Amino acid sequence: MTDIMRKVISDAIDTLTSQQIQARKQSDATYEDIIKRMRKALKLMDKYKGKKKFTDSELEKIQSITCFHGLGFCCGLSKPCYFRDAALHILGISKEQFKREKEKWTKSVSGKVISP
Ligand SMILES: [Zn+2]
Repeated sequence: MTDIMRKVISDAIDTLTSQQIQARKQSDATYEDIIKRMRKALKLMDKYKGKKKFTDSELEKIQSITCFHGLGFCCGLSKPCYFRDAALHILGISKEQFKREKEKWTKSVSGKVISP
């Protein structure tokens, strides 16, 4: 009995250890991605400061920092999201406007802003 119990616990330790390693890897990758996108957001803020009109490729670049690469797919206002806020800031879109447009964007094929 003791031997079986030893084996059960020892197997559980192995399983948990590999899960822990896996979780750490995922967590590291998630943080890396978030920090990378935040740095990109800062860069884009500086680059497009005061700009009012954007080309399609600029719109795409700006929205690449948002969740799922489109404001239409990014978080709603009920949830805090630095990426949404940064993209709205760069594009000069108010939160009210975002709220109104989000539904339309979500329904559109790409979920991306056609024009701010
Ligand atoms: Zn978001």
